[in-house]
Amino acid sequence: MSESRKEKVCDGEGAVTSTRGACAPQIEISRPLGELDWIPRPRLLALRRLGIETVEDLLTHFPRRHEDRHQFPHFPREESDVPICLCGEVVKTSVRRFGGWKKIFEATLEESSPNALSEPLVCRWFNLHYVQKMIATGQRLVVFGKPRLRGKRICMDHPEFEVIENDEEISIHFRRITPIYPATEGLSQRVLRSIIYRLLNEVSGAPLEKLLPTDLATGERCHAIRAIHFPESWEARDAAREHLVLSEFFAMQMLIASRRSDSSIRMGDSHCGPGTLLDKFLEALPFELTGAQSKVIAEIRRDLAARHPMNRLLQGDVGSGKTVVAIAAMLLAVEAGYQAAFMAPTQTLAEQHYDVLRRWLEPLGVRLALRTAARQEDNAPLPLFARGEIPGSARVSRVGDGVAPSRTFLDVEPADSAFYSRRRLPHFEKPWAIYAVTISTKSRRCLSPNARTIVLDAFRHFHDKRYELFAVCVMPDHVHLLIQPWPKENDDAGNVVFWPLSGLIHSIKSFSTHKINRVERKSGTLWEKERFDRYVRSDRDLEEKFHYILRNPWETGVAGQNEDYPWLWTQNNEARNQRLFRRDAETNTRDACATQAGAGDGAPHIIIGTHALLYEKVSFSNLGLVVIDEQHKFGVAQRARLTAREPAPDVLVMTATPIPRTLTMTVYGDLDVSVIDEMPRNRGKVITAVRDVSKLGEVLSFLRGQLETGRQLYVIYPLIDESEKLDVKAASAEYELWRERLHPYRCELLHGRIPAAEKQNTMERFRRGETNALISTTVIEVGVDVPNATVMLVENAERFGLAQLHQLRGRIGRGQHKSYCILLTSEQSRETSAKLAVLERTNNGFEVAEADWDLRGPGDLLGTAQSGLPALKIGNLKTDAGLMRRTRAAAMSIFQADPRLELPENQRFRRLIVEQQGRTFSNIS
Ligand code: ADP
Ligand code: MG
Repeated sequence: MSESRKEKVCDGEGAVTSTRGACAPQIEISRPLGELDWIPRPRLLALRRLGIETVEDLLTHFPRRHEDRHQFPHFPREESDVPICLCGEVVKTSVRRFGGWKKIFEATLEESSPNALSEPLVCRWFNLHYVQKMIATGQRLVVFGKPRLRGKRICMDHPEFEVIENDEEISIHFRRITPIYPATEGLSQRVLRSIIYRLLNEVSGAPLEKLLPTDLATGERCHAIRAIHFPESWEARDAAREHLVLSEFFAMQMLIASRRSDSSIRMGDSHCGPGTLLDKFLEALPFELTGAQSKVIAEIRRDLAARHPMNRLLQGDVGSGKTVVAIAAMLLAVEAGYQAAFMAPTQTLAEQHYDVLRRWLEPLGVRLALRTAARQEDNAPLPLFARGEIPGSARVSRVGDGVAPSRTFLDVEPADSAFYSRRRLPHFEKPWAIYAVTISTKSRRCLSPNARTIVLDAFRHFHDKRYELFAVCVMPDHVHLLIQPWPKENDDAGNVVFWPLSGLIHSIKSFSTHKINRVERKSGTLWEKERFDRYVRSDRDLEEKFHYILRNPWETGVAGQNEDYPWLWTQNNEARNQRLFRRDAETNTRDACATQAGAGDGAPHIIIGTHALLYEKVSFSNLGLVVIDEQHKFGVAQRARLTAREPAPDVLVMTATPIPRTLTMTVYGDLDVSVIDEMPRNRGKVITAVRDVSKLGEVLSFLRGQLETGRQLYVIYPLIDESEKLDVKAASAEYELWRERLHPYRCELLHGRIPAAEKQNTMERFRRGETNALISTTVIEVGVDVPNATVMLVENAERFGLAQLHQLRGRIGRGQHKSYCILLTSEQSRETSAKLAVLERTNNGFEVAEADWDLRGPGDLLGTAQSGLPALKIGNLKTDAGLMRRTRAAAMSIFQADPRLELPENQRFRRLIVEQQGRTFSNIS
């Protein structure tokens, strides 16, 4: 921005003028807007709805777009796809009814200086009663929208509009490039614009501290802020926007760079052995590594050998051979005397990795262990329970009928206890939380000993299956428990879903009610709504609650001091008695294997597991390397939890979801990136074809042909069963149909609601080739590896996202045979065709990702929320990619020269990081 322009922006005609000189402080930008007495109170509420509380919030409430209101174009006589901005006088208004109570409000506008050829413009609003109240004949309106030909009239439906009032403020709203803001009810454009205009006049430059290094952008932030709201020219608007985007990106990149720097200055150990074990492994492999694999292994090896912790992202398309790379890395760590952890997002994947690794590594003498939520190899009790003495446990049971209801329930009712409705259970926000729950009986109905036993058994029933129960105490008129729901398996998109606490409790309640009523020949409800006291936040918290529950019968006098109380249960009792619920045969075999492997000389070398590895129960003795497979399913916070240990382990995260480079810079910006961009040579080609459902007959005969030659087939459906309301064919319903269609070939059904053990058996039979076709939802999405399965039919392909289809397609093309992916669709819209055509065109994951981004924006491409980065207010990750690159380079070089931001000129940047991260600098300086 040139000097002269700067002057103009600040003081020039038509721009915001600052009456008191350029940069004298008047208002603190952190000041709450409520302290400015000129903003009407009702407006404050409306502003708050937009998340605007302080002066700074309002100054950075950036316009969504601008309108050139110097001069309005003539009214159009054609329709257009581009919205235009017009100004005219309302000459007529009318309301028409349609469909009973619905209304259309029409306002007819005429140009201010019409000529013979001028056509009026009809603005229409459907069912917006408030619009009708705002517009009257004789007013002048500015409207913005797409003109459409409706019959003979030119109409604009639901245009944005603004009533021009002939007041002195006209200079704010007209004869300039006018900002249009994201607005809200109770706050019109005009009002919001006036408030911002006045605010800009009251604040002057000083508090708007400059937060960009000079080599990144010149100019002052205060000028940019002014110019983005009320620009002098389009060029000034663009320059201001660039400045603001740069500062926004720069702040983000500084945060990322600080995270990187945090980990690079933490001292770790070198976790790299000499490589003899790795060589043995590579020799035993039935294939040669691809060039890309070797390159990546070398990169990782360098990182492992370095003293500072590795933080590396490995991107590689499905089937590119990331697992081998992970194994290589882990072997290097193991050989150096460390343990390695291998985390997968789902139970199935973890078990698959476990099998693969056992096949390859057991011959090399590497000890392996599997730890998932559903399967703990060695069920050692928590230290907490090992040490705590259970009150009353040595005493003799003597509790009979007629015991007075205890008072404890009232006693434990803390005034501030949270009361969660079914929909607001904290569980959904906090996976792996442990809850303290109290349930009381309805009208304090007293539970007989028999009934108490039923309740206790009901709670124990799903222990170790759907949840972990730490303690339960069934008192005469209420129940206390400490419970931690477990993952229920992956859903059809492969995400981990937990058993909902409300559902668990609900089923226990209805089961016990039913049973007790039957036994006691009574009817009616038994339970009150449960009370979720809280979730347990710390070990101490847990310990307190635990002991509170265990002491309850004695403290309340329900049990005498020398009596036992039999309706009290903890994990210790269970360990003492024989296990109540047998594990399935397969688990036992696995346990045996693992135990054998783990027996001998102690701790396992490699621990494979799911998110459960994040959970403190798994103790590593000497963790040197963590490999996280399918990174996009883990959040940054989860990753941090595992890697925050001291001393810091090396971390390798792997993803099969390639993302555009710009996004890599942000979402994974704190990681070094390695890419496997080459497929193993022995792969058959994958041919993808989109077919309309009408061609199903031909498709079927093709499929049968493939089955005849001995190949196997996946048929993928978007949904599980027809209880889903959408009109989509569902796997379970269509399963029978497919069995007929493919007769005499064998089909099996697979979906997320099939119990885990059964699912696994089904998968196993498919893997062994005993079944020819798998009719499945997307549960097979991630990581499943059956080389002989070379054909995939996706039904209702339009319902899947591109990334997901690409993932699915990665299940085939894993052997040397040519593979076919057929995308069946009944939809012919332009978007669908464009989307599916991408897959026909390319097999390259990065190209798919870029195309996906083009087609639908970064929205759900990956949970940006997961990245823990602040939301963007003005920048656009896609269109401003170039600016992102510049800020990244700048931030990196600052941290490279000054990793702790100690230099005086870098002090001001500390604020950026502290603000965004909400953390102090204690861990840096
Ligand atoms: P992904 O990258 O999807 O995790 P995997 O590691 O599961 O891929 O590898 C897919 C399959 O390819 C596995 O069966 C693996 O054994 C095999 N594979 C890996 N590397 C090679 C290679 N260099 N040559 C041939 N096959 C390989
Ligand atoms: Mg994999």
